[in-house]
Amino acid sequence: MKPCEMTIAKFHESLTSREFSAIEALKETYRQIDAKNKEIGAYLSLAKNGAERAAEAVDERIARGERVSLMSGVPVGIKDNLLLEGEPCTAGSKILEGYVAAYDATAVAKLKAEGAVMVGKTNMDEFGMGSSTENSAFGKTRNPRDVSKVPGGSSGGSAAAVAANMAIAALGSDTGGSIRQPADFCGVVGLKPTYGAVSRYGLIPLASSLDTVGIEAKTVDDAAILFGAISGKDPHDATSVEKTYGKELYESHPERIRAMTIGLPKEYFGTGISKEIGERMEGVIAAFKGMDIRFKEVSLPHTSSALSVYYIIMPAEASANLARFDGIRYGKGGEGSADIGKRYVAARSRGFGEEAKRRIMLGTYVLSSGYYDAYYAKAQKVRTLIANDFKAAFEEVDALLTPVSPTLPFAFGEKTNDPLAMYLSDIFTITANLAGVPALVVPPGFQLIGKPFHEHDLLGLGREYERKMAS
Ligand code: GLN
Repeated sequence: MKPCEMTIAKFHESLTSREFSAIEALKETYRQIDAKNKEIGAYLSLAKNGAERAAEAVDERIARGERVSLMSGVPVGIKDNLLLEGEPCTAGSKILEGYVAAYDATAVAKLKAEGAVMVGKTNMDEFGMGSSTENSAFGKTRNPRDVSKVPGGSSGGSAAAVAANMAIAALGSDTGGSIRQPADFCGVVGLKPTYGAVSRYGLIPLASSLDTVGIEAKTVDDAAILFGAISGKDPHDATSVEKTYGKELYESHPERIRAMTIGLPKEYFGTGISKEIGERMEGVIAAFKGMDIRFKEVSLPHTSSALSVYYIIMPAEASANLARFDGIRYGKGGEGSADIGKRYVAARSRGFGEEAKRRIMLGTYVLSSGYYDAYYAKAQKVRTLIANDFKAAFEEVDALLTPVSPTLPFAFGEKTNDPLAMYLSDIFTITANLAGVPALVVPPGFQLIGKPFHEHDLLGLGREYERKMAS
């Protein structure tokens, strides 16, 4: 078994019993990337120098007989909107071409502190805007399970890297489904944490009240290990929260998990889902029932407004966040002009892709004085109603089970000319961001949504499911 095909626990065991060194594991990872990346396009850039230094440091500690942590030497991919010091960070946009990160994102710094090895930066839809990674300014990422299909997005590069064994795990970000839908499409585990559970410091923001930093991994246990490593309060992010999860995060009591009640929100199982997804969900429900887990139908009555609310709040915040890319502090392209206004226009016209421009226009429109109350203020109110739906549901049940995407992975170009069709890919994922609650995707592609800061419940359910399937 190659190092990148292993779980973190297996990797750790092999590393510490000296079956391979961290440097050998890293070299093998780069061989795999050399062999696969041309076709898959998961990585935009590789961080070879830093990765080698990190792997050598792990090997030195092992040689000295020191104990090393579970994540030590583990090759990890980083979505290209998270800063990795000294490496390019483009967020998939031409406007950031040539930009080099001056510091580490907190999630990255925490992984480094655990001895993990940052292999490179993964492809993504520009600034996280998209559901197929086709909005990247730097080329396609293909789905490792079927290269004629998209890998999902916007963290398509991270999910594809993990699925194609070009990393053991990867960091991603999720504003409306960007970790979960690619996890579903590529057949990996995806965890979108509670808003505030993981610091957003060093994440290039898309929509700050919805953005979360999370994980693509091969197994639920691996996702739990990474989550344990990156979560917690960070003085650099005022919205981050200290929460101690304890052992429950890493190993759950089967009896506690089996005593849970799972809610099936009826709005998520209607006519909107394809036949294949409907059948998949039936199989998943049957498997959970086989573990004696109880189900209860619940209702999230404001679901039908979620897409409209999201596509007002997200572009509004995105338009404000993207204002910093002005061709002066960030971005090139306006140098020829002495006129400041012309310089902004030149840099932004050249640097932003179509989808970014579309959202800047939508966002500035809904924030403009004449329309603010009609759109933005109203959307905020409906967002509260959506969050209240979840609160009410969690009075009755411990977690919710839903589909992730309404369809199977689609072909390249299938939705690029129809933004609304693309937006509909997120219909089952955006609500968790609007409500700030955690959600976990487990192969073959189902979503568990939980109470705030109850990631351990979701991981426990996911773990039980994995065990049941493996037995
Ligand atoms: N696909 C969604 C969008 O285009 C979600 C993006 C995300 O989570 N970053 O906005």
